[in-house]
Amino acid sequence: MFETLSDRLTSVFSSLRSKGRLSDADIDATCREIRIALLEADVALPVVRDFVSHVKERARGSEVSQALNPAQQVVKIVNDELVAILGGETRRLRFAKNPPTVIMLAGLQGAGKTTLAGKLARWLREQGHAPLLVAADLQRPNAVQQLQVVGERAGVAVHAPEPGNGTGDPVAVARGSIDHARRLQHDIVIIDTAGRLGIDQELMKQAADIRDAVRPDEVLFVVDAMIGQDAVTTAQAFMEGVGFDGVVLTKLDGDARGGAALSVRHITGRPIMFASTGEKLEDFDAFHPDRMASRILDMGDILTLIEQAQRTFDEQEAAKMAGKLVSGDNFTLDDFLEQMLMVRKMGPIKNLLGMMPGMGQMRDQLNQVDERDLDRVAAIIRSMTPAERAEPKMINGSRRARIARGSGVTVTEVANLVVRFFEAQKMMRQMAGGMGIPGMPGGRN
Ligand code: GDP
Repeated sequence: MFETLSDRLTSVFSSLRSKGRLSDADIDATCREIRIALLEADVALPVVRDFVSHVKERARGSEVSQALNPAQQVVKIVNDELVAILGGETRRLRFAKNPPTVIMLAGLQGAGKTTLAGKLARWLREQGHAPLLVAADLQRPNAVQQLQVVGERAGVAVHAPEPGNGTGDPVAVARGSIDHARRLQHDIVIIDTAGRLGIDQELMKQAADIRDAVRPDEVLFVVDAMIGQDAVTTAQAFMEGVGFDGVVLTKLDGDARGGAALSVRHITGRPIMFASTGEKLEDFDAFHPDRMASRILDMGDILTLIEQAQRTFDEQEAAKMAGKLVSGDNFTLDDFLEQMLMVRKMGPIKNLLGMMPGMGQMRDQLNQVDERDLDRVAAIIRSMTPAERAEPKMINGSRRARIARGSGVTVTEVANLVVRFFEAQKMMRQMAGGMGIPGMPGGRN
């Protein structure tokens, strides 16, 4: 996501790097480039205008820090403005004082509402809540069944009208679900409503009727980010027809431009609260404007990476690994393997590396990362004797040949792995010596 904009902006900044100070003409030229970058990313025109004029004003103003060079100053300003346009602070869900908290989903058909209902339910369940999914989409054939499948996968209960009653009244189902939730002690109710392929009055009326019947704590407007500028038009229509408190962007994985994400907040005045990035239930997270800006500018998203690690590993495991990392000296090939397998548990390597600073420019290489490489490395290490793993220096030519035979790889691959291990070990020692993590961005405040 955001590849187009990210590439463009990165090249704008790199052309500033050699400048000692920025003249007004430099600033104008840079702002023109930023404007083109935003337009290419399909950002709505009023948003582009505001964005560029803020950047220009600030770049010309005297507020900029003397500690930063001109390129860094512009990056900082653009970063701040991106954060602002994406909504500033992370907006979290508001929970009702008297449960259940009622969350209603609205949006066009195909926006990803039903999938999102499952993702949100799973996410909330993991945080210790007991959500109830409610099937109030009685229009689309199979919608109820689809929600039931999603609910099962998410491990949450689904409230739906009796089978054979498919023409039932969605307003009544939604209303009834609140009592049902209370009886069964669900603290959150997520209502999936019907969508249409296009905006129409009947759709709006039904959504508004459900809203009036259940008085939701949060109405979330679900929109497919891939439809670009249309997302903004649809958002405006729903804003007028139903009203909503927050936006959920879906299919961000397929949206290289990011125009919807960058426009919707500014145009509707409502924050983006969640983002969906794939078809699987776990491809979902709260939306953090600052982290998203950081990713767009290829400054990495270390916070998300850390959170993902915390979610994946229990504390003991993490503490044990951290201990190894700090000492460096005791770091063996067994630890190397263990560390690699731990990292793999966090998700596809490509996604993880994509969150590291500076990796955006290496996108092509990232796409070639072969997950099977890890299996080969694991096979090589497992073909070593415990003594070899603890003391890899002893791995001479004949040992290399034996290990290669045992793991079905070439002798060169074994040799390369050992070299990589020594490099990792050296890095650990350096880190332990307080030299900082190589590759972390410096120079930016
Ligand atoms: P609804 O009509 O709004 O309920 O939409 P659905 O939940 O049925 O989703 C429509 C299609 O979009 C399905 O094929 C989903 O698998 C797919 N989908 C939903 N969310 C995402 C996402 O974040 N990324 C991708 N790539 N596909 C998604």
